Parts: sequence; C-alpha cells; structure tokens
Amino acid sequence: MRLKDRVAIVTGASRGIGRAIAAGLAREGAAVIVNNSNPSSDGLAEEVVRTICGAGGRAAPLRADVADLAEHHRLVAAAVTQFGRLDILVNNAGVEFREPFLRTRPETWDRTLAVNLKGPYFLSQKAAEAMMGSGGGKIINISTVHDHHPLRDRSAYAISKGGLMMLTKSLAFELAEHGILVNAISPGAILTDMNREALSVPENLNRCLGKIPLKRLGAADDIVGAAVFLASSESDYVTGATLYIDGGMLLY
Ligand code: NAP
Repeated sequence: MRLKDRVAIVTGASRGIGRAIAAGLAREGAAVIVNNSNPSSDGLAEEVVRTICGAGGRAAPLRADVADLAEHHRLVAAAVTQFGRLDILVNNAGVEFREPFLRTRPETWDRTLAVNLKGPYFLSQKAAEAMMGSGGGKIINISTVHDHHPLRDRSAYAISKGGLMMLTKSLAFELAEHGILVNAISPGAILTDMNREALSVPENLNRCLGKIPLKRLGAADDIVGAAVFLASSESDYVTGATLYIDGGMLLY
C-alpha cells in the first residue's frame, strides 16, 4: 500500500473524477474526506464512503462549498479531528458553464473563478498550515488540457484553469521549503456528468474523438494512477509539474 497512514481531502468526490480518485487513494491505504457541495448529492458522497469502508478502508463525507472560504476550516478540521492529520489535498471540484464570450454573464465568471481558482487557492492555504505541522504534504490540482488551449464558448472555464496552472507553479515555489509539493493533473475528455449530455450527441462525440489519437474518451479511472503517484512518496522529487492525461489530445 503506497499511502498507508496518509490522510487526504478530495474535493468534489461525490461523482466523476473526484470519486475515482477518492476510491483510488483509499485503495492505497489513505483515509479520505469525501467532499461534495450540493445537498442533493449527499447520498452519492455517502455511497462513496460506504464503498471505501466496505472494502476495509477509511473515509468520511463532508459537504462544503469550496467557493465559500468560511467552509475551508471545516474541511481541514474534518481530516485532522477524524483521522489525526492531513497529508494530501486534491483540488478536484470544478464547474463549467457553456456561454459564448459575447454573452458571458458576470455571475458565470464569478462562480467559475470562485469554484475553480479562488477556492483551491485559499483551501490550499489552510491545508498547507495543517501539513506544515506534520512535516509536509502533497497538493494535487485537477486542471484540464484547456489550461493552455482555449475552449470555445467556455472562456471563463479555460481562464480559471489557466490560473490554476500558475497557482500550481506559484505554490510549488513557495511551499517547497515547507516540504509541501504541488502538482497538477490536466485531463483531456473524460466521460463524466460534466460532459455526458454534450457527448451523447453523435456529432459532438465524433468531433471530440477526431481530436484524440487514442480514439477513445477517457474514463475517470484513467486519472487515478497519476493521482496516486503524485500523492505518494514515488513523486518526492516532483513539484510544479503538470501531467497531461489526454489520450494524446495535445499532440494535435
Ligand atoms: P463532475 O462529474 O461534474 O463532478 C464534479 C464534482 O465537483 C461533483 O462531485 C460536485 O459535487 C463537485 N463540486 C462542484 N462544485 C463544487 C463546489 N463548489 N464545492 C465542492 N464540490 C463541488 O465533474 P468531473 O468531470 O468529474 O470534473 C472534475 C474535475 O476535473 C473538474 O475540476 C473539471 O474541471 C476537471 N476536468 C474534467 C474533464 C472531463 O472531461 N470530465 C476534463 C478536464 C478537467 P456536487 O454535485 O455536490 O456539487
């Protein structure tokens, strides 16, 4: 087990990529705080926890909106009080709204930046304080290939993730002296609730597959190996890096 006795928070872990990462970290021995934000997904977060605990792992659910800075203390405190420490933070929660630039509303911009960038920034600050008390830790940011490739009709999303890329590098720089390593994973097209409806349209699916040399959509489980690697001691000389997991999409 590569994460025995470690404690992790995974934001947005009720579904999709976050859910797969939470399960993957738990399989390697980590205790996991499984976060969601919407009361309607409490049942999903509880199911993730039940599955982990049913397989002999340790996990607890915690609803908190990462865009609400006042909630960050609760998230970190949940890890420390329930499992004794905090070693790993996965900033996975994210939102994407489809609006062409000329019709993007200020509310869309504010919510996107609050969840995808401001939340991870200040949650990392709180997490780093806790990690420093136990000798260091790992922060993993879930970005996207659109952190440096524009995405039509979702400019606020791409801009937020571009910011997340610089957040990763800036925090890696400043936190190195505290033994906290900060890296990112940038997925390509991974089939989840975020894109299921759009990709159910054959024309959209074929356009998307046309950009992927491996000729298939990714699954949430395709991201898990990289997350375990970046959370474990196998990556103890890796910081400020981004792993692109995209079936070769960026080769185009
Ligand atoms: P998803 O299936 O829509 O799941 C999103 C998760 O984030 C849910 O658990 C949701 O829980 C949670 N969440 C949303 N807003 C939150 C908030 N304010 N606070 C806490 N949790 C919140 O999305 P996904 O596809 O797995 O995406 C996960 C991450 O991967 C995102 O950062 C996304 O940008 C990134 N990504 C995805 C793809 C892709 O192709 N799917 C590609 C590149 C990058 P609630 O329902 O409770 O809010």
